[in-house]
Amino acid sequence: MRTLVTGGAGFIGSHLSDYLLAQGDQVTVLDDLSTGSVQNIAHNLMDPRFHFHEGSILDAETVHTLVSGADRVFHLAAAVGVKLIVEHPLTSLRTNIHGTESVLDACTAYKRTLLLASTSEIYGKNEADSLNEESDRILGSALKSRWSYAAAKGIDESFAHAYWQEFGLEVAIVRLFNTVGPRQTGRYGMVVPNLVGQALRGEPLTVFGDGHQTRCFSYVGDIVPALSRVIETPSALGQAFNLGGAHEISIIDLAARIIDLTGSTSTIKLVPYENAYAAGYEDMRRRVPDNSKANALIGFVPRTGIDEIIVAVADALFSKASLDNDIMVQASALRASTVAGHEPVASAAH
Ligand code: NAD
Repeated sequence: MRTLVTGGAGFIGSHLSDYLLAQGDQVTVLDDLSTGSVQNIAHNLMDPRFHFHEGSILDAETVHTLVSGADRVFHLAAAVGVKLIVEHPLTSLRTNIHGTESVLDACTAYKRTLLLASTSEIYGKNEADSLNEESDRILGSALKSRWSYAAAKGIDESFAHAYWQEFGLEVAIVRLFNTVGPRQTGRYGMVVPNLVGQALRGEPLTVFGDGHQTRCFSYVGDIVPALSRVIETPSALGQAFNLGGAHEISIIDLAARIIDLTGSTSTIKLVPYENAYAAGYEDMRRRVPDNSKANALIGFVPRTGIDEIIVAVADALFSKASLDNDIMVQASALRASTVAGHEPVASAAH
């Protein structure tokens, strides 16, 4: 199977590429390295079944050429991360709308099956006990850049659905809920790598707001096989599926757990949202997935708990810091890789 992964040098895309190579695929990655990095795919560059193409999904000619040479496409390339979206709203909108349209066009032209990565952000401020795929979207003002990621991904889903309806494009959509794990960067506002990095450096863990907002974190190692199974299931076509973690945790409890598991001497510092983002910034208090549709389709069950996730991220960051010698890591952080029952994942993370 020849598989194209857009955004394959990013966090999830690079793990997906590893998984697909292990399944026997030939993998081509299209990535402009805006938030991804060659380091994420360096271990595959000598593999003759792996091809990296540095370029943009906004370049329709490149997209057409690469899609025509593939049997199927995983579309993960996007401008991701609240910080990035808020600071670069226009580029982000163009990437997330026009870039996706170009992938949809090419997949339609060459009749290729497509998996589109969408997001739980599209549910916006809906704080229902459990969000299912039919749940309403409650977004803030269109003039607040913070919501433009959710708006763009919603348009992507509508586009994909229309291509399926009108042109018969074989496309399935997955809505990912706070996927975390090794290789995720904290640079664009991702909470787990940020807090773990702060704990490893012995800095205060900065928690926004009152810290009682909750999330359900899922592990990339649980999500990636599910992406592959969804695209391989014909009854998934034309539909969207939530893929999220099973356990809800507040960010303040997450920070406390990170301090405990890394053996850090750090404290927790509450930071008002307006100190981190522009005044008027809005966040959702909670976001809980109902995974039952994906469970019925492919038997999806998120198995990795928050402690294992924290340890995996800490272990990877610790190894990276040791290699790069770029941050001062507390010796006590070594405890992270010795938490009972944990298999260190650092070797798989770089
Ligand atoms: P990421 O930033 O690590 O990956 C995105 C990749 O896309 C990067 O490698 C980046 O360089 C690349 N990219 C950006 N613009 C591009 C362009 N114009 N052309 C080519 N490549 C481009 O983020 P991620 O967390 O791995 O996200 C992957 C996908 O999953 C995205 O579509 C994102 O919206 C979705 N998603 C992620 C999460 C999460 O919690 N990580 C949650 C919901 C949805």
